[in-house]
Amino acid sequence: MKMVDLRSDTVTLPTPAMWAAIANAELGDDVFGEDPTVNRLEQMAAERVGKEAAVFVASGTMGNLVSLLTHCGRGDEAIVGDRSHTFMFEQGGMAALGGITPWPIPNQPDGTLRLEDIQGAIRADNPHFPRTALVCLENTHNMCGGLPLTAEYTDKVADLAHSQGLKVHLDGARVFNAAAALGADVQDLVRSVDSVMFCLSKGLCAPVGSVVCGSASFIAEARRGRKVLGGAMRQAGLLAAPGIVALEEMTERVSEDHRRARDLAAGLTEIPGIAVDPFATNILYFRLDDDASITQDEVVAGLAERGVQLMGRLDGRFRAVIHYWISDEDIETAVAAVREVMA
Ligand SMILES: *Cc1c(COP(=O)(O)O)cnc(C)c1O
Repeated sequence: MKMVDLRSDTVTLPTPAMWAAIANAELGDDVFGEDPTVNRLEQMAAERVGKEAAVFVASGTMGNLVSLLTHCGRGDEAIVGDRSHTFMFEQGGMAALGGITPWPIPNQPDGTLRLEDIQGAIRADNPHFPRTALVCLENTHNMCGGLPLTAEYTDKVADLAHSQGLKVHLDGARVFNAAAALGADVQDLVRSVDSVMFCLSKGLCAPVGSVVCGSASFIAEARRGRKVLGGAMRQAGLLAAPGIVALEEMTERVSEDHRRARDLAAGLTEIPGIAVDPFATNILYFRLDDDASITQDEVVAGLAERGVQLMGRLDGRFRAVIHYWISDEDIETAVAAVREVMA
């Protein structure tokens, strides 16, 4: 049975163009700065997002950690959303490995942090307190409906942070989905942040890797951070080559995934007992009505029997993520499977 895998956009296998790029990649030792393919990817990435420089890293988690280690010293504090990936799903790496305290403040349902909450979390200069060094945002917001943050909102947060001497890091794992959904230029979405990490390995379909972008001096330090974490790789052009294809061919087409997410939502909305959360990109959350006579586990198992995989979240919601390898027919299969399981 062919599986329709909606668990995540991280399950995406390389496209034929990516396999060809891997086979033909020109390689060198990237720790010596001599891998031409990595160098090209980093230059392309920096140009694309409008920053001075970029560094290729093994994962989004490593990109966020390297950024935090670069912005913050031991004992500094970082303001983060309480539903952010960095706070929830990265093992507390900033504290465990960097001596950085996270101060989680509430993520609003649209993924934003309230400016008043950020202001309230910035520490006074007082020897009792850690020093606040950083504010972290996430765009699109994975746990908050995959919703995008606008350039105007990001600018306001950055103005507030910069006015008090703080830096801003953007976890832009899916920032190209945000740009497509908003009809915005990705450069505007990141123009006011000091660093941005984005993933090549999610909706952009590359097999491995993320990129951190920022000023030349920031990236020089981030390279040191990557090295100490064991993330400096040798002939990494093998991994950067499909990343180049991702940047060249995949950033615009994510709007197709968004259209299929709308099709899926339209189908699910018609099924009694299912409620779809607000969405705007390739991530779709839905839930069972409160009086449901079926459990989350039963739904996930019933769908799997029908060839459809998705994720049951701890909070009771289901998450379906649309990606390159999901077709219109797969969406029909998924809707039909949910209808059968709910019947
Ligand atoms: C996936 C994800 C990450 C981490 O990326 P990995 O490559 O899985 O380590 C970070 N932030 C967000 C918002 C993500 O969705």
